[in-house]
Amino acid sequence: MKNQFHAETAKLSLVGKHSHAINFSQSKDDNQDIEYIAARLPAVLQTSLELDDVIGLFHKEINKILPYDSLHYQHQGVHCDISTANRSHHSCNYRLEMNNVWLGELTLTRRTKFSDTDLQLLENLLCKLIYPVRNCLLFRQAQNAALEDKLTGLNNRAAFDTCLKREIDLAHRQHRPMSLIVLDIDNFKIINDAHGHSSGDSALQLLAKSITETMRGSDIAFRYGGEEFSLILSNTDSKSAHLLAERLRLAAFSLVCSDGKLNYGFSISLGVAQLNCGEQGSSLFDRADHALYQAKKSGRNVTFCAPTLTSNDN
Ligand code: GH3
Ligand code: MG
Ligand code: MG
Repeated sequence: MKNQFHAETAKLSLVGKHSHAINFSQSKDDNQDIEYIAARLPAVLQTSLELDDVIGLFHKEINKILPYDSLHYQHQGVHCDISTANRSHHSCNYRLEMNNVWLGELTLTRRTKFSDTDLQLLENLLCKLIYPVRNCLLFRQAQNAALEDKLTGLNNRAAFDTCLKREIDLAHRQHRPMSLIVLDIDNFKIINDAHGHSSGDSALQLLAKSITETMRGSDIAFRYGGEEFSLILSNTDSKSAHLLAERLRLAAFSLVCSDGKLNYGFSISLGVAQLNCGEQGSSLFDRADHALYQAKKSGRNVTFCAPTLTSNDN
């Protein structure tokens, strides 16, 4: 069964399994509650731009006037999957859409059937949910864009700082190893001078792609700045990090760039450091950066590893 409902440019599609029950008549008090909750719902939903919060608030408010057992909201594109409780037998399921932009799918379930009156009320309430959900998704997009390096599509420096702190906290808490790789293109200034700045930009894009293709799914890559990149490797000791660094170095060395007339290649140097017990991000980064500095000093196109403290050193 499919029932479509249009409100300006917003679209709610009622889909899937739901069944009609006998309409029940509402008392004057019920109607006053419904009117009151429905009227204040937009203001309540405007109090947050976090999708999880807005869905949670919607659930809290509408459950006061529309009895159901569980609410489920899913938006795979933004990895959002919210369930307030286990699913009951009867369900009504709505696809939320505005201007052909997917806003997710919302399902309510309960042990008794949903009546026409229930569905009508729910559709009225969903109209008030659509704009806040759209705003949350736009806010997420803006947040993600602020964390992305426009040239390479990798995460940027701001994302690195947040991610490094999070991964270090996790590694300390779970007593797991964690490593950091910093890498830098060798003699990039000469490449820019010889082949032009836009060809240099293409070299940066090619390297970013090579890094992404060479690293493992659990690794996270960043453009730290200029021609310097970094990788956060969770659950990885310095030995494994060194192996990955060497794979990255060889992959970069095999890349072929072009300035439109001439083909050319380049090399990278890398510094690796494993997180020490109780260590913070700035110290880990400094040690990896120092290893990179040694790699440069030793002649470039090489990986250097910072010494790791053993438990005896502590
Ligand atoms: P080293 O081997 O010691 O790292 O030498 P290098 O020439 O790579 O290092 P240096 O710090 O002297 O120069 C870095 C160059 O990277 C200079 C700068 O113009 C260039 N660069 C930084 N960001 C970009 C960018 O986004 N695009 C291009 N094309 N060049 C960039
Ligand atoms: Mg360089
Ligand atoms: Mg540099």
